Amino acid sequence: MKTARLHAPRDLRITDEPVPSPGEGEVLLKIGAVGVCASDVHYYEEGAIGDVVIEEPLVLGHEAGAEVEALGPGVTSLQPGDKVAIEPGKHCGKCEICARGLVNLCPAVKFFGTPPTDGALREFITWPADLCIPIPDSMTVVEAAMTEPMAVGIYAVDLANMKGGETVAVLGAGAIGLSVLQAARVAGASKIWVVDPIEVRARMAAKMGAGRALTGDPTQIAEDIWAETGKAGVQIVFECAGTNDAVRQAVRMATYDGQVVAVGIPYPDEVSFPASTARRKNLTVRFVRRSRHAVQRAIDWAASGQIDLKSYATHQFPLERASEAIELARDRRDGVLRSVIEVG
Ligand SMILES: [Zn+2]
Ligand SMILES: [Zn+2]
Repeated sequence: MKTARLHAPRDLRITDEPVPSPGEGEVLLKIGAVGVCASDVHYYEEGAIGDVVIEEPLVLGHEAGAEVEALGPGVTSLQPGDKVAIEPGKHCGKCEICARGLVNLCPAVKFFGTPPTDGALREFITWPADLCIPIPDSMTVVEAAMTEPMAVGIYAVDLANMKGGETVAVLGAGAIGLSVLQAARVAGASKIWVVDPIEVRARMAAKMGAGRALTGDPTQIAEDIWAETGKAGVQIVFECAGTNDAVRQAVRMATYDGQVVAVGIPYPDEVSFPASTARRKNLTVRFVRRSRHAVQRAIDWAASGQIDLKSYATHQFPLERASEAIELARDRRDGVLRSVIEVG
């Protein structure tokens, strides 16, 4: 089967590898589409995220939609031909953290496309059946792949404990920022500002329900939003740009006793902001790790038309051109939100 394997930074090779066979409780999946995430771009460019370093050649990709090809022993929940979204993290189920229900934080989690676990940029994979979630006929495998970034947005909003009626700002309107926007809208936010220096992204945010979609100098915009709220600030600010500057802007525009939720992956691997501002405002700053129990909601909301996942997939590439897909995502050119690699 065709497999895209990263041998070194920017050295992605298409190789021929044997088709795996599903073990007990697993299914063999025929991969249909894979979205390129910022984390894939980090591995592709730097060979690492923080202290997690690629030591052996690795298959990237964790945002995948697939079709069930065959069942391993003991699987009764799925049938060959079922189209599924995939929960890309397999937690150990045995450790203290899993026992607390924090399965996305399991230190022994095996997560697609994160060393040493191979990801989805290949024709077939095996994966536990209970981590494959059927999608309705009305959805495509591309939308199934887009449920993964959507799940991250839903989870970030879960962590903010929204009750409805809150003011919200989202900094960064890539697929993750737009997912936070859509989840916050479903959760009943009263007003949502979205900020992105790229105009098409701001336009997309407006289309997806941002009350104010702003583009321009982010530091100036943070000041403008602060002024616009009568210097009261925004109740929940989600940082989805993956830059330290955005974290600082989030702290700047958050309200007294408000929340900053850091969703992006910053590079370099460091976050800092003025302690005096955060302290005087009594801020809660929260970091987000992937997602937990959110894929099913992403599917349900997409199926019922409450959210739009189709619009994320702005560009499609065949597996042979996976490098181009990743580089387009890196460069944020041509109005890209998600580069999607069509495998099958
Ligand atoms: Zn992702
Ligand atoms: Zn565990």
